[in-house]
Amino acid sequence: MTIKLYNSLTKQIEELKPIRPDEVSIYSCGPTVYSYAHIGNLRAFLFADFLQRTIREVGAYKVKWVMNITNIDDKTIRDSQNSDVWKTDFGEMTNDALSNLEKLCNFYEVEFRKDIELLNIKNNDFYKMPRATDYIVQMKELIIKIFNNGFAYVSGNSVYFSVGKWRENEIYGKLKKIDFENFRPGSRVDSDEYEREQVSDFVLWKAKKEGEPFWTLEIDGQNLEGRPGWHLECSAMEYDILGLPFDIHTGGVDLKFPHHEDEIAQSKAGYGLEPTAMWCHNEFLEVEGKKMSKSLNNFYTLRDLIDKGIDPKDIRFAMLSAHYRSKYNFTFADVEAAKKARSKVQEFIYELHSDIYGDSEADANSFKMEVFSNLANDLHSPKALATIFSFINNSKAESFNKNSKRNLISVFNQINNVYAVFEITKKLETSIPKNIIDLADLRIQAKTDKNWAESDKLRNEILLFGYTIKDTKDGFEISKLM
Ligand code: AMP
Ligand code: ZN
Repeated sequence: MTIKLYNSLTKQIEELKPIRPDEVSIYSCGPTVYSYAHIGNLRAFLFADFLQRTIREVGAYKVKWVMNITNIDDKTIRDSQNSDVWKTDFGEMTNDALSNLEKLCNFYEVEFRKDIELLNIKNNDFYKMPRATDYIVQMKELIIKIFNNGFAYVSGNSVYFSVGKWRENEIYGKLKKIDFENFRPGSRVDSDEYEREQVSDFVLWKAKKEGEPFWTLEIDGQNLEGRPGWHLECSAMEYDILGLPFDIHTGGVDLKFPHHEDEIAQSKAGYGLEPTAMWCHNEFLEVEGKKMSKSLNNFYTLRDLIDKGIDPKDIRFAMLSAHYRSKYNFTFADVEAAKKARSKVQEFIYELHSDIYGDSEADANSFKMEVFSNLANDLHSPKALATIFSFINNSKAESFNKNSKRNLISVFNQINNVYAVFEITKKLETSIPKNIIDLADLRIQAKTDKNWAESDKLRNEILLFGYTIKDTKDGFEISKLM
């Protein structure tokens, strides 16, 4: 089926026409691993997963999906040098700046991988998850290309992209309109994140400050000790791994400027090509109608929600029930509604497995085509789910004949290849295994001893076995993740 997507570059819904036959290449801006991902970040990764699963299942394409790990930028460096943020989890801070950075980032990368696994984003679906620090050579090469093509200059041991020079013949502001009234050619911005109003020459190679990790860039007869700018990292990794142009680039709407705008300029200035055919951006997640922030006490990581006894699959289902280009208002009531909706579909699937048959014939194929065409139309999940619930509400599983039931199970299996929140097999009666109860008892002991690190570790172990644990006033309650 033809897939259509909203392209932020043309501001239109367009047909996906893969550059290489049968294969769709996708690059997703990944996590900055200086702390646990929050549920807003996770929305961005769930969107990318939903997109790639739809392209595989509904579009019947192979997918080459790359998501980078940002392990060097302003925030990772800042926290790797701040003794306050060091926790027993990643050991002693040393005098070696690079090894401190690696320790901090490796720790949060492992935690990120656990989070996405719990959300059913499968490791095997990635072609590669490159770490920025493994591509420093390629990043330096790109800077030199941009410099040799006349769009970069050295100033104060850093290298900057000249926006003024670029604008002589090219558009800067393709994804978001930029007002150049306050633009002063030659003004410079060093930080990775800045506002549209601050449009200036941005940094490609950032001079090291005292005590920071660094690499050496040989350029213009000088040896500059520093590190790549954040925007440059993605340009170099996508070129090296996917080649240019590739099919789809994803990220949250906040990345349109400056991150993606700068990526377009750098790639074209250095490699002569824009990175991608389609830019797809997810809208933001808010919590109870407000921007998520620590000061508002509405800032959640996945583990915060699991601690409240929420099953990660209900979070996945709740977030995927909304359209990715609408703001998603995260509320506990909505997660509870998603849990009910999920179990309704789940019960229907279980009933399709029962040996009770009727005479009715189900038109499984037209049901599937309706769900899939909604997904193919710019991932319209709300409409796809409306089709699913209307089908379930108007059918009785036991009224279908054997053949129809079998066909419907197969359709739900295909739907689940995209949503990934249901069990397609027969219902299994489960009791909680003894080793899980033993771990839970050890965790209670650790909590009594106020050994929080140990109790967190045990909770993670329990999770990896597929169970969640919730504290109650009498002890704990364990449930199996579906
Ligand atoms: P970061 O780890 O900060 O580099 O961000 C990872 C991804 O999360 C990026 O694609 C961001 O655009 C996205 N993102 C950050 N905050 C939110 C939010 N509140 N809602 C949706 N996506 C977000
Ligand atoms: Zn990026």
